[in-house]
Amino acid sequence: MGTPLVRGFDMRLATPDCLPGATHYRADVALHEDIAEALPYLNAELEGADYNHAARVLLWNGGGKRYAFRPRGIAIAPVRDREEADPLARAIIRTVNEIWARRDAIRPRFEGRRPPPTALEIYRLLPRTNCRECGFLSCMAFATAVRSDPSKSALCPHAAITIEGAT
Ligand code: SF4
Repeated sequence: MGTPLVRGFDMRLATPDCLPGATHYRADVALHEDIAEALPYLNAELEGADYNHAARVLLWNGGGKRYAFRPRGIAIAPVRDREEADPLARAIIRTVNEIWARRDAIRPRFEGRRPPPTALEIYRLLPRTNCRECGFLSCMAFATAVRSDPSKSALCPHAAITIEGAT
């Protein structure tokens, strides 16, 4: 492997939202190198990541921690203390360097996650006959249920809809 992208960092702990007496902290990792060009590759490789290319902000949850990547820094939360934060910072920087080293084999992703469809958007995909064959009182009630639980989308025999990302 050649020279790593990130070669050094400084770290400080901040209380979330300046909360006095907080027992958990956010680790602000200031990077010595700029990782802006690596963000679309991280977006492609880190499962579940969400990226705003215009703002150059990438959000990701991993190992019970939230990570926010920016060109010159990575915020990690929650952390108990510096003893916990330091290995987390080193590990995530290793991940950044490892993904950057493989970038020629990765297709960068510049788009963020699509927001889940609203109940109204799902409703518009239905026949809107309120026939109740799905077991719901109306197509709108069905659409609302599908938004909460996409697996219910198979219950309507009159519409072939696939709801991705609904929560
Ligand atoms: S089965 Fe389909 S068309 Fe009939 S009420 Fe349910 S969602 Fe509407």
